[in-house]
Amino acid sequence: MLLFTPGPTPVPESVRVAMAGETLHHRTPEFEAIFERTRTLLFELLGMDEVLMLASSGTGAMEGAVINLTHSKLLSINSGKFGERFGKIAVAHGIANVEIKHEWDTPATVEEVQAALNANPDIDAIAIQICESAGGLRHNVEAIAATVKAHNPAIMVIADGITAVGVEKIDITNIDCLISGSQKALMLPPGLAIMGLSNTAIEKIGSGKGYYFNLATEIKNQRKNTTAWTAATTLIIGLESILNRIKAQGGLEKLYDETARRAMATREAMVAIGLHIYPTSPADSMTTVDDMQAKEIRSLLKKKFDVNVAGGQDHIKDSIFRINHMGLIAPYEASWAVNSVELALDAMGRRTFDGTANRVFNTVYFGL
Ligand SMILES: *Cc1c(COP(=O)(O)O)cnc(C)c1O
Repeated sequence: MLLFTPGPTPVPESVRVAMAGETLHHRTPEFEAIFERTRTLLFELLGMDEVLMLASSGTGAMEGAVINLTHSKLLSINSGKFGERFGKIAVAHGIANVEIKHEWDTPATVEEVQAALNANPDIDAIAIQICESAGGLRHNVEAIAATVKAHNPAIMVIADGITAVGVEKIDITNIDCLISGSQKALMLPPGLAIMGLSNTAIEKIGSGKGYYFNLATEIKNQRKNTTAWTAATTLIIGLESILNRIKAQGGLEKLYDETARRAMATREAMVAIGLHIYPTSPADSMTTVDDMQAKEIRSLLKKKFDVNVAGGQDHIKDSIFRINHMGLIAPYEASWAVNSVELALDAMGRRTFDGTANRVFNTVYFGL
């Protein structure tokens, strides 16, 4: 079965093998050396002033970011399940929160962010997804972050890049906190969150907030190549392995280029067979199609063609399907995925199979 869900993504065999060694104790020179090398690779990946590895799923890093970087009021951008989560974290911690809310196919605009900042002079942090995975949309984080910083450079910009880091080169000029997670573009099992911080963010964190996710405690320890609590040793070994593998396969630029071409080729293939792309500003991490028969298409893909794609959540649970583009994915796998969608439409009597999806995918991907 081909796993084509936008998280979790398949773990390459070499990475699984790297993680299969004997258990290492985390307070040893052996593990500290691995930690140090992985930190170096993360500085290259994120381009931020500081990096942290946290033993939690991505949501833990979101929570750590909100509680340590919001001292007064949070502006959260909710165009889906993950944006909504930032607001829920604020509420859970008694942090004041204003939200810009949209349907899950619609990104936030610079104008509404500016209006929210004007109306709420006490906002001191904004939290936004780079890609909102609920509907697969790309927010214009670059423009929004620039607007926020032009308004007041002290406002912290928290960017959830869990489905953007490892997908595309992220402009971190106006980002104070960039979050990533193990089970999406980094092709690892779930359980490790990653965070990049700007020097301005580190200053604001000061002595930190919270306990498990007190970022000051982590910064202090991780600068010495150790962690405050027991490190997720196996996942960190896996992280070093995958980042080295990406390098060995041509580096980040090549990965970003291939991902962008795979995403464009898939979108065009879907449109060519009469399907509709759900978000008005699609991200390159996944292709989301909205369709009355999304559930039936998914089920056929799985049962007849051995392709596992994701559905939606909440009110769009059965009306979309999402094809993953994150990670090192061979073109022959991606082209089989789009080909299967066309086969499914044929099986449902919606079109006669003629190989259009596969042809369009390959034409665009290989630039024929
Ligand atoms: C997957 C994901 C998360 C984190 O979810 P966890 O289940 O906690 O790992 C956060 N934001 C986005 C955009 C995601 O895709």
